[in-house]
Amino acid sequence: MATQSPYAERHIRALGLAKDCAALGARLRTIGYVTGLPHGQLVQLFFADHNAIPRGRPPDSPDWYHSANLLYRTEASMVVSLYRRIRGLDFGPAEALVAAYKHYLSMLHGAPRISFDRAFDLASHLDGLWIVRVPSFSLATCPTCASQYLTAVGACPATNHECPFCKLLHRYRRDPRIQTSFPVTALPDTTVLKLGIVALARQTREG
Ligand SMILES: [Zn+2]
Repeated sequence: MATQSPYAERHIRALGLAKDCAALGARLRTIGYVTGLPHGQLVQLFFADHNAIPRGRPPDSPDWYHSANLLYRTEASMVVSLYRRIRGLDFGPAEALVAAYKHYLSMLHGAPRISFDRAFDLASHLDGLWIVRVPSFSLATCPTCASQYLTAVGACPATNHECPFCKLLHRYRRDPRIQTSFPVTALPDTTVLKLGIVALARQTREG
């Protein structure tokens, strides 16, 4: 039986990731950074219809996040904290990003406010990788609700003043938009949730 060279294995894995990214609506530039595959090959493989290539300016998150509305900040924090948790389970950044984004989509009750390109940009600025060398975000843990949320790098909030999850809870009763986006449901068993994340990340890795 023929054995695959490490190069072939890496290439096959990169193609699987590229397919996932394209299906999640990523633009070419993002897929190129995440997989390391050349632009021409990606166009040929995933964008045979040139009119279907996503265009427009890519997101730029450091300024955007601090002025985004509460629901956007909450969903951005959800994606990035999932990404960080999966990274912590020893998955590479590309696999963690794809698995975190899929998991984020599965948690929503409406259209996603965070695109895959935005999630990529947020993760880049959190870890100082792909498009930037220096992080401009960090993840803070709220001292009141223990949720993790995005904040400026180096900030170490001592109160829940900035926590989008606490704000969401505070406004819940009087804001129908929040009620529609986050309907009250039974909380999932966290062990099951963690196992689900691991399975999803493995699937992405083995793609
Ligand atoms: Zn909080």
